[in-house]
Order: sequence, then C-alpha cells, then structure tokens
Amino acid sequence: MNQGTLLIHNGHETEPLSGALGVPIIQTSTFNQRDLSGHQEYDYARSGNPTRKALEEIIASLENGAKGYAFGSGIAAISSVLGIFSTGDHLIAAEDIYGGTWRILQTFYKRWGLEMSLVDATDPDQIRRAIKPNTKGLFLETPSNPLLKITNLPVCLGIAQEAGLISIVDNTFMTPYLQRPLDLGADIVVHSATKFLGGHSDVISGLAVTKTEALGKQVYAVQNGFGAVPGPWDVWLVIRGIKTLKVRMDAQQATARQLAVWLKAHEKVSAVFYPGLDGHPGREINQAQAAGPGAVFSFKTKTTEQALCFLDQVKLAATAVSLGGVETIASYPVKMSHASIPPVEREHLGITDTLIRISVGLEDPEDLIADFAQALS
Ligand SMILES: *Cc1c(COP(=O)(O)O)cnc(C)c1O
Repeated sequence: MNQGTLLIHNGHETEPLSGALGVPIIQTSTFNQRDLSGHQEYDYARSGNPTRKALEEIIASLENGAKGYAFGSGIAAISSVLGIFSTGDHLIAAEDIYGGTWRILQTFYKRWGLEMSLVDATDPDQIRRAIKPNTKGLFLETPSNPLLKITNLPVCLGIAQEAGLISIVDNTFMTPYLQRPLDLGADIVVHSATKFLGGHSDVISGLAVTKTEALGKQVYAVQNGFGAVPGPWDVWLVIRGIKTLKVRMDAQQATARQLAVWLKAHEKVSAVFYPGLDGHPGREINQAQAAGPGAVFSFKTKTTEQALCFLDQVKLAATAVSLGGVETIASYPVKMSHASIPPVEREHLGITDTLIRISVGLEDPEDLIADFAQALS
C-alpha cells in the first residue's frame, strides 16, 4: 500500500467488537485482572491502554518500525528515548536540533553525565570526526529548524551504523508521509505529534518508533518507568489527525511553495529558506530521501523593523510558536523557539532578529499572499 492509503487502513480502521469506524476512547486508570496468571494484556493504564496502543501500532506501521510508543509531548518522547543512554555515554547531535531538545541535553542530561558534541550535520565528516570510544548515539533532525538545513540521512546513518551507534531522527517536520528515516538506516524515530500528525493545533503529544523489538523494550522500560504517557483523549485526537495527513500536507506544501517563491522576489525580503526552492542548499538530498519539502519555511527581512512590522500587521497568520496545524503560524525564533539558546550561539546558527518562520496552513494561497503583501508594506 502507498503511504496515503496506510494513513487510513492501518489495522485500526474498524473496531472489532462493535464495528465502529474508529478507535474507542478507553478512559480508565486500571483494569480488572480476572486472570492472575500474568497473561492479561492490560493491568494499569500507565503501563498500557488500548487507545494508546492503537496509536502506537499506527505510528509503528507508518514509520515501518517494530514498536511504537506514545508520550505526553514530543519532548517527553525525546527525553524518554534519551533515557536509554547511561552516564559516561557520549552523544553526537546536530547543532540546530529543536531548542527544547538542545535545552534538556545541555542541562539535565549533562548534569547526569551524558557527554555531548554538537556538530553541523550537513557535513557528515563532522560526525565522523566527533566519534570517540564512548560514543553511543547520534541525534539528527532534517530539515532543521528554523533554517531548513538538510542532513543527508543515508550517509550520516551509515556512519552511525558502522560505528555501532544508536541513531535517532526527529521526523516532526516531514512526518512518515514524506520521509521514513528507519528505511534510510535509523534506529529510532521521534515525533512531536503536536505538529503535523495531530495537525489541528489542539493537542500536545509525542511518539517514538524503534526499528527493532529489542530497542522497543528499552524505550518501553523508560515509558513505563518514568510514565510520561498521554491520556486517551489526546491519543484519540492524534489518531484522528493522522487520517487526514495526506490531504493536509499536500495542500499546505503546495501553498508553502507558492508563498516561498513569492517572498523570494519581494524587495523587503533578503533570503528565503525552503527545501522546495531552487538553489536551497541540500535541496537534491531532500528530494532523494523525502517525498517533498514540507510546509514550513523561513525568511529574512532586510531590517529588524520590517520583521517586527510584518508580525504586527499580518492577519491570517497567528504570531505563535508551533507548526503543522491547519492555520498558518508566523513565529519569531529569537523570541520564541530559540529564545533559550544564548545570543552568541544563535548568531553562529544564523538565527537573526530578521528571521521569521512560517508554518503554512490550509488557507487559500491567494489570500495568504495578499495578506503577507500588506503586512510587508
Ligand atoms: C515541537 C517540536 C518538538 C517538541 O514537541 P512538543 O510536543 O512541543 O513537546 C520536538 N521536535 C521538533 C522538531 C518540534 O518541532
């Protein structure tokens, strides 16, 4: 089956008992253990819940992995997956990973003795050179946020495989509809399901998928042990969101292309960062490893004043963090997603106060262009 069909027909399209078209919300904390032999599947809802299990099986099949796990947020999924490492382990991560991931690595995990090197993952040699005897993991994200830098997944994941590292890819921006890192050599995929998978800006949720059963056991031990699990209502919203991922992503991506091309020609815009544009660094790599450039791009105005004016005047885009919803969102990385990164580090990453990130929604492209035009003027 193609990915678009799999979004709908993934083993959970019909509930077997009632025939309902969908997954029931099983709102319970505990289960009646009539069978005390230890063979009953559910005992306590932190350890497992049928609604959650449906989402975990759906994301595992979409990512072509062995096991899926759902969490209360994307960062809960990421921090739980990082929980499989030990004190003294060394981790290599892309320097422009999600700000929240950067923050937990620099604070909690550093304090607990997880060593870390940040590299520019667009240059695979930097990963090769950063490998030490105690290196155990590689953490990547592509396209990256907010400059949409492209990491060559097959090459970098191949380096990780050769060195025996556990590789983790944050696939939030692409979703399994566009990119399947496990098929490209990754060991674990993580998601903020808050974004495109949920798709409606109405739920905070996270997911992890492992390539093997053995890694799945390790992630499950953290999920059950630390208990950063989602409730069944939130899980249900993500399951529902996933059903329309194809049409949303197709439409949002097409509009993103149009807007990016239009902005690139605008006199007040100095740069547009979008893998769907000719000349974007790594565009060919993205085309080879993903089925599309996605629906997030960023651009720089010529002056800070122009950026602030745009954010103040734009009407069809909420000025907010987050992305991947049906509504267009304009975010201001220096004050939002990347506010926790020190200014010197931000400057090094190219995150300036003229930079605006756009997550394109389902609005009519002509209306968005007209609105952006008035906001820039
Ligand atoms: C939002 C996001 C996260 C964190 O997810 P939450 O659901 O906000 O906890 C992680 N990675 C990426 C790429 C994100 O965009």
